[in-house]
Amino acid sequence: MTSRVALVTGGTGGIGSAICQRLADQGHRVASNFRNAEKAQQWQQKMQAKGYDIALFEGDVADPASGRRLIDSVEAALGPVEILINNAGITRDTTFHRMSAEQWHDVINTNLNSVFNVTRPVIEGMRKRGWGRVIQISSINGLKGQYGQANYAAAKAGMHGFTISLARENAGFGITVNTISPGYVATDMVMAVPEEVRAKIIADIPTGRLGKPEEIAYAVAFLVAEEAAWITGSNLDINGGHHMGW
Ligand code: NDP
Repeated sequence: MTSRVALVTGGTGGIGSAICQRLADQGHRVASNFRNAEKAQQWQQKMQAKGYDIALFEGDVADPASGRRLIDSVEAALGPVEILINNAGITRDTTFHRMSAEQWHDVINTNLNSVFNVTRPVIEGMRKRGWGRVIQISSINGLKGQYGQANYAAAKAGMHGFTISLARENAGFGITVNTISPGYVATDMVMAVPEEVRAKIIADIPTGRLGKPEEIAYAVAFLVAEEAAWITGSNLDINGGHHMGW
């Protein structure tokens, strides 16, 4: 198979780490970003101990200038980004009547504006080269909404509009653009939810358990494959049956 340059934003997190490893297993040259050098070094050592060499570059994807610098650094070191996984995300949960402007903007900037900040600098190159894969990691809650997550659900729903528009604009250039909407996956983000709330969530999942990061990474690998060239503008729900239908 062709070895490509892949950038996974938020690659040091729970789902991101699994995506980085899976893409590296497939022979791709994988990069991600970091914001805290010490944390980044620890993560990289952990990856190296497992036999993975994932390149890390400084970058805050919520910031347009930093997003562009991130792409410049990755491309200078590894070559043009051919696979982009927009995975970085945060939550700032609270009901809307209590939500501060900061909580709203932090989540929109990190989860949605980041998609512009990072995709915009790579899309022209992908079009010129006639090949690309862009995948947004959205969320079940971008489809069905969630109590206390008006900011998060708005950002994640926005990813779908972005995906289907970008897919249309670039379908003639060998670029596919898709969204994956995970349900609740056992990462720090979900483990930060109070235990009693988590127990209620799990009780509502037909498979009776949280997802594993590797189960999301598997879908990323599927959509990235050369054989997936006709899958574009799609959303793939991976949620243990937690949200079915349209
Ligand atoms: P984690 O909290 O484990 O990881 C999030 C990652 O994003 C970290 O590497 C974090 O880096 C990075 N990040 C956050 N903000 C920024 C920023 N401004 N610039 C650059 N990097 C940033 O989360 P998950 O792995 O659980 O989630 C990954 C994605 O999947 C998110 O988009 C999330 O919304 C989505 N998702 C997760 C679900 C789940 O159940 N876990 C369910 C559905 C969707 P740092 O260490 O610097 O903070």
